Amino acid sequence: MNVAELKERLLNLVDVFEEKEPLLTELDRAIGDGDHGVNMLRGFKSLPEQLDDNSMAALFKSTGMALMSNIGGASGPLYGFSFVKMSQVVKDELDNDNLKEVLKTFSEAVAQRGKVELNEKTMYDVIERASEAVSNGDTLAFEDLQSYADLTENIEATKGRAAYFKEASKGHVDPGAQSSVYILNALIGVD
Ligand code: ADP
Ligand code: MG
Repeated sequence: MNVAELKERLLNLVDVFEEKEPLLTELDRAIGDGDHGVNMLRGFKSLPEQLDDNSMAALFKSTGMALMSNIGGASGPLYGFSFVKMSQVVKDELDNDNLKEVLKTFSEAVAQRGKVELNEKTMYDVIERASEAVSNGDTLAFEDLQSYADLTENIEATKGRAAYFKEASKGHVDPGAQSSVYILNALIGVD
């Protein structure tokens, strides 16, 4: 994937988050404060004005800066910081080898910034599993990413706002896990 292709995929996420805003709102209403859909849409809507497509690194960095200042909430700094970190390892042709490195960086950035581990019911559950699978040479489809998000449904949250719901957080998919499905789908280049 080259810079023009990835730029198009990132800009397509504006439509995706437009469509998925009600779903993300509903998920965050159940175990949070209901702002995740609006947060993600606001973040991605800022991209057309903010993107720098001079190189893949510039594209990732400008995406990160835009997400950091426009998503808000807990997820904004996590996604924003991750894209800035990924800009440091991405190459102008994002091939399969580079994708492994990019996803590993994504996962490590979230772990570092969120002080989060696997099975705490966050976006990290999806990002880390996707990184692991791609590292192992698996080809991921959208359904695989969705299955990682679905795994968050039956666990109790121990990070972020959802942790206040304790046992009652069970039975709901984590909103950040769901939004990361769409972001990873764009990066991985499936569909
Ligand atoms: P807020 O919780 O501030 O309202 P959002 O609703 O935009 O922010 O984002 C909530 C999502 O952020 C959660 O569903 C979860 O996936 C993610 N999140 C929150 N805290 C952490 C953390 N410490 N590490 C990883 N992800 C987190
Ligand atoms: Mg929220």
